[in-house]
Amino acid sequence: MDDTQKLIIITAPSGSGKTTIVQHLLDNNPQLAFSVSACTRMPRPSETDGVDYYFLSLEKFTRKIANHEFAEFEMVYEGKYYGTLKSELQRIWDSGRTPLVDIDVQGALRLKKHYGEVALSIFVKAPSLEVLKQRLLDRGTETDVSLRERLDKAGYETSFAENFDRIIINDDLRTACAEATKEILLFLS
Ligand code: ADP
Ligand code: 5GP
Repeated sequence: MDDTQKLIIITAPSGSGKTTIVQHLLDNNPQLAFSVSACTRMPRPSETDGVDYYFLSLEKFTRKIANHEFAEFEMVYEGKYYGTLKSELQRIWDSGRTPLVDIDVQGALRLKKHYGEVALSIFVKAPSLEVLKQRLLDRGTETDVSLRERLDKAGYETSFAENFDRIIINDDLRTACAEATKEILLFLS
C-alpha cells in the first residue's frame, strides 16, 4: 500500500446521526467513496445488491473469511455477519478516491488497528442518551424492544469513544458536518 491510500472510518451508536453525516460527506466531497460492505442479512425492499451491501449467503461469506478476504468482519446482530472486503477498499483506491467506511464500533476499532496511521477513525456521539432516545423515537423505525436494545448497546459502545482518533458531538447537525469535513480534509491533505 502506498501512503496516498488512506481511509476514513466512521462509527456511532444507532441514532447518533451517523447515516445523516455520512450522506452529507459523500454528497459534498467527491474524493470520498462509500465502502460497500458484505453482509449475510436479507436485502430490504429499498436496497440494491452492490450499492447498499454485497448480500452474500452464509456459505459464501464464510469462504471469504477462510480466504482472508476481509479487512474486518463482525457478527453485528445475532447470526448476521457484516464485513469490509479488502477488494472493496482496493477498488476505491484504484479509482483515485478515499474509502468512507461506515461500520459498527467493534469493527471500526479492528479496522483502525489493522490500518493504523493511514486510517482516520471518527466516533459520532449524540449530546446525551436522552437526545439519542428522542431521535430514535422521532425516526419512527424502532419497536419498544429494539429501542431498548439500541439504548443499552449505545451506553456500552459509548464507553469506547475515547479509543477513536476524533469524537464529534452531533448536537447541531451543520456544526457536526462542518467539523467532520474539516477533520477529514486535514487528514487527507
Ligand atoms: P444513525 O445512522 O446513527 O442511526 P441517523 O442518521 O439515522 O442515525 O439519525 C437518527 C435520526 O436523528 C434521524 O431521524 C435524523 O434525521 C435525526 N438527526 C440526525 N442528526 C440530528 C441532529 N443534529 N439534530 C436533530 N436530529 C438529527
Ligand atoms: P443494518 O443491518 O441496519 O444495515 O446495519 C447494521 C449495523 O452494521 C450498522 O451499525 C452498520 O454500521 C454495521 N455495519 C455495516 N457494514 C459493516 C461492516 O462491514 N463491518 C462491521 N463491523 N459493521 C458493519
